[in-house]
Amino acid sequence: MFCSQCNSVLPEGAAFCHVCGAKQSAEAVLPKAGVERCTIQFVEVGSKWSLFGKEICEFRACRENGEVVMASEQITLSGFEYNGPNEKNKKHKRAFDKLVAQMLQQGWQQAPDEPQLWYAISFWR
Ligand SMILES: [Zn+2]
Repeated sequence: MFCSQCNSVLPEGAAFCHVCGAKQSAEAVLPKAGVERCTIQFVEVGSKWSLFGKEICEFRACRENGEVVMASEQITLSGFEYNGPNEKNKKHKRAFDKLVAQMLQQGWQQAPDEPQLWYAISFWR
């Protein structure tokens, strides 16, 4: 562990820093116990053969170990967009918004991180 004051290397569980004398608070040094964390991923779960090919996708909220906490409804997307080029995005957004709402209902909070991809937001509780 490191001193919370001066960053010196301290023996695990030290109550005081031997360099600067600062009292070490267990809470500040150890990661908060009991905090669950997960991130939303976009997964292609399969494809259906049709004239234009259909891909089946879903959003998943996964823990760091890959365990799925919650999955969105599946989105079936055709390679051909009958309803105009934005239909794909609308389907994505709708399924994504539903999943986020369900996560919030389950007591998850959105983490304030800046995601690299628009959907790759993190939650904790
Ligand atoms: Zn110190």
